[in-house]
Amino acid sequence: MLPAGERRIERLADALCERGVGCLLVSAPANVRYLTGYTGTNGLAVIAASDSDAERLFLTDFRYETQAEQQVGAHAPSCRREIATGDLAEAAGKLLAQGQAQRVGFDEQDLSVARHERLATALGESFELVPCGGMVQRLREVKEEDEQRRIAAAAELADRALVEILEGGLIGRTEREIAIALETRMRTLGAEGPSFPSIVASGAHGALPHAQPRDHAIERGTLVTIDWGCVLDGYCSDCTRTYGAGAVSDHHREIYELVLAAQLAGLRAIAPGRSGKEVDALAREVIEAAGYGERFGHGLGHGVGVEVHEGPRLSKTAGEDPLQVGNVVTVEPGVYLPGDLGVRIEDLVVVGEAGPRVVSLLAKDLTEVS
Ligand code: ZN
Ligand code: ZN
Repeated sequence: MLPAGERRIERLADALCERGVGCLLVSAPANVRYLTGYTGTNGLAVIAASDSDAERLFLTDFRYETQAEQQVGAHAPSCRREIATGDLAEAAGKLLAQGQAQRVGFDEQDLSVARHERLATALGESFELVPCGGMVQRLREVKEEDEQRRIAAAAELADRALVEILEGGLIGRTEREIAIALETRMRTLGAEGPSFPSIVASGAHGALPHAQPRDHAIERGTLVTIDWGCVLDGYCSDCTRTYGAGAVSDHHREIYELVLAAQLAGLRAIAPGRSGKEVDALAREVIEAAGYGERFGHGLGHGVGVEVHEGPRLSKTAGEDPLQVGNVVTVEPGVYLPGDLGVRIEDLVVVGEAGPRVVSLLAKDLTEVS
């Protein structure tokens, strides 16, 4: 069987052929890693379309020679490795300029204007540069089984870390203390690191969807939103739970139950063939019917993989494409009442043939932690 990188490169080469470009410069680190296994910071791949007989290239600088030999050599052995100096896009341009003039795809979402200019100069006027951003990202949206397993393993590790941290209680500890302890615990358990800065937000601070943990002791009777995840084996997890710090009021409970009902409706709606927009609408209508539509101001979810935020989107404004078997997405409705409280509940879900497979395994009934 071909290494994973080679299989993905073949799929990309076919897509490039369909698109009518001769090759693609892959510059975004997550895309380079996905195709070649390379985890260093300075690397660039040039993938030729399947109807081209041009060679595939991987460029890096001398600091990463051995690492590239090991990683690219194992995952994408068809790429000839080249050690370059200076800007790798410029170096790739110089190499391509030695061959036949062609249409060269680049990632306009990643390559800076300055690098694009150097690339264009190196290639010369007979080459045409074609924006092809998103092509590798679209391949990444459908996860192979091995990728699904890695995401589930990351989710399991993150779950375990939180369970251990909660054993130490919430009341009286600061938000920052919890966030740091959680991130340290995930690393100790084997994670490469957190997949994004952990959110721990209590009381009215929870009404900020992207709240930063404060040096503020968590008070009894408040809700605490914890949004966290880790990177394991190159793959991210993402999950949110909202807990009661001790017993909470009926008002808190009512909002919690509403968000949970919307979250469950979102999960039920996940199915191959249904668009992200439709899934978003089915969860959102639960919150709207209760009169809190205005207080759920973000999308329902996003894809998770090599990056913690990727396609497909589940949202009111994006997500036209039908979900596919192998997508891994979050379902994370929230209700945010400024000056009062916030609740968000987020699961990570694999879109399966027979329906959603939830990989976030922590309970979702409102749990009161002392
Ligand atoms: Zn999250
Ligand atoms: Zn998320």
